Amino acid sequence: MTTAAVVGSGPNGLAAAIRLATAGLEVTVVEAADRPGGGTLTSERTLPGLLHDDCAAFHPTGVASPFFRSLDLERHGLRWLWPEVDLAHPLDDGRAGLAARDLAETARSLGVDAERWRRLFAPSLRHFEPLIDEVLQPVAHLPRHPVTLGRFGTRAVLPATVLARLFRDEPAKGLFTGVAAHSFGRLDTPFSGSVGLMLAASAHAVGWPVAEGGTEAITRALLAELAAHGGRVVTGQHVTSTDHVADLLGGAPAITMLDTNPRDAARILGPALPTRIRRAYQRFRYGPAAFKVDIALEGDIPWTNPDVRRAGTVHLGGSAAEIVQTEAETTAGRMPQRPFVLLGQQYLVDPSRSTPEANPVYAYAHVPHAYTGDATEAILDQVERFAPGFREQVLQVTSRGPMELAAHNPNYVGGDISAGANTARQLLARPRLAVDPYATGVPGTYLCSSATPPGAGVHGMGGYLAAGAALRHLR
Ligand SMILES: Cc1cc2nc3c(=O)[nH]c(=O)nc-3n(C[C@H](O)[C@H](O)[C@H](O)COP(=O)(O)OP(=O)(O)OC[C@H]3O[C@@H](n4cnc5c(N)ncnc54)[C@H](O)[C@@H]3O)c2cc1C
Repeated sequence: MTTAAVVGSGPNGLAAAIRLATAGLEVTVVEAADRPGGGTLTSERTLPGLLHDDCAAFHPTGVASPFFRSLDLERHGLRWLWPEVDLAHPLDDGRAGLAARDLAETARSLGVDAERWRRLFAPSLRHFEPLIDEVLQPVAHLPRHPVTLGRFGTRAVLPATVLARLFRDEPAKGLFTGVAAHSFGRLDTPFSGSVGLMLAASAHAVGWPVAEGGTEAITRALLAELAAHGGRVVTGQHVTSTDHVADLLGGAPAITMLDTNPRDAARILGPALPTRIRRAYQRFRYGPAAFKVDIALEGDIPWTNPDVRRAGTVHLGGSAAEIVQTEAETTAGRMPQRPFVLLGQQYLVDPSRSTPEANPVYAYAHVPHAYTGDATEAILDQVERFAPGFREQVLQVTSRGPMELAAHNPNYVGGDISAGANTARQLLARPRLAVDPYATGVPGTYLCSSATPPGAGVHGMGGYLAAGAALRHLR
């Protein structure tokens, strides 16, 4: 039987493992941590019984992923739950922009900009499934839906700041700019609007659901699917070389998939890696970082705007201009006084995460790459700014800065949770300019982490597409 090793058990590693195991290979996944799942785990991070998502929390790309859709993960217990409102963006004057699956509800919150918002997203919504199938691939590919992709592309090249100018009032400007800020970088550069366009369209097309019981339910379902095809997982093994993999498997595998960062891939492959590819992997750039806090809260957050109490995700950054400024600062390596914060109220739609005494609140701020300061107070201040009285309800807080995130998962270099800066260059050529971006130049060995297309997010598409390249190699 042909053997395959997959180094790393994030959603991309598990997706690669499932595709290879389904094709009949004998697959072993080797994971450094003591639990498989990478960025797709859930833990009691504050009080006993409270379930906090360690990393990923909201799953527009998960529910829309063509590979996940093909697996029927619901068979293995995965259940998506949709908040009433996907996303809220509160403002200092008490208003809030809302994005919901119901476009009418969104329009109601956006006042004068309702029709402009609808016009911006309607074309993507009419053909959402073919569009997401195209977007969750390398940028340079032969499109099956060129017109749909072309129409999206003409807007996606624009800076987020230019797209935000389509709107007249702050609820829509702030709402769009906050979504665009998921790209973790300057918002006035070409392509910086692309992430915002796709994620906002997803909110209307498929929603931003959470996984019942916590994001780890996705990992459990992927592991069950892998086991059903005979794959196995070894934990607690940080792979440092191909010899290490061969020792664990009792011989060199025919196929090796690396759900690792490109620099670690270069280390693991050693002198076998062609020099030009080693240089490309070493040149690969990392972006700003996340500073994560988990909060045990008595009751609900006392948001000034009552609609925010119904939202799964809340963006705390104030006006569009303020977000553009804070994202420019973090990208330049300076810590802003009021960082952009993403807050999760998953428990609203999933009560299994709470106890009778407390609710788990999830938040992270955008901070400079490898930031070593403590952003906890700045994050709590941002919540208090839009929900006066919040601090009095806080029972416990635990924090993890960029270097702790990186220590827990080597793919988050310097705390960059996108596993590589989303610059225009790296959106187009990730991790390097190549016909096959997954090939390492070492026969049978492929990079498949979110440092490859289509980039960050829990969708497994990097792993799925890299495994496709591996199967073509075998043929
Ligand atoms: C705070 C935070 C919030 C996020 N929020 C969201 C969200 O809401 N929605 C969303 O879709 N995405 C979110 N993400 C991003 C998402 O988690 C990642 O994009 C996704 O998990 C990437 O999958 P992956 O398989 O490429 O890598 P990862 O999930 O990072 O997994 C890589 C795995 O490989 C292992 N590994 C690496 N090197 C080695 C080695 N040498 N030997 C052995 N094992 C190794 C690591 O230990 C890890 O387990 C978030 C991430 C973080 C950190």
